[in-house]
Amino acid sequence: MKHRKQTSSTPFVRVGPSGVHGLGAFATRDLPAEAFLGLYEGRRYTKAEIATKVWDDQLTYLFTLTNHETIDGSKGGNATRHLNHSCEPNCEAVEEYDEGGELVLKFQTLVAVDAGDELFIDYSLTADDGSPPSKYPCHCGSPGCRGTMLAPEETEAPAP
Ligand SMILES: [Zn+2]
Repeated sequence: MKHRKQTSSTPFVRVGPSGVHGLGAFATRDLPAEAFLGLYEGRRYTKAEIATKVWDDQLTYLFTLTNHETIDGSKGGNATRHLNHSCEPNCEAVEEYDEGGELVLKFQTLVAVDAGDELFIDYSLTADDGSPPSKYPCHCGSPGCRGTMLAPEETEAPAP
């Protein structure tokens, strides 16, 4: 039987009532850009397992990695799962291989933040079931708000 690491601590992240939606994550201290916040943890599913599951509006806790594994932060996740979405985020999620060769999702600051600042990432959700963007409305209030937490509409233009 394979034992999972315990949920790692996230000393720079405090969970509290969000200014935007439900609970949010806040910096416990001033942090520079690219400061490590923690790993996005939770139950992992393979692509095949995900395909057979029915999700009940839990999309915002799911992260699908480029190896097609999905991490469900609502099961065994740590404080990083409370980062809310913003269309102009101050944090980002970065994939990386750990020492064991496992693909992990690292949360880090994108810019310098002050102690007490709410932390955000851009979820860029993909609704595989074809849900309209209005099903995942965004209330981040930033000037460049897309109005939805879904990823920007893919255009016909080829990727650069
Ligand atoms: Zn927004």
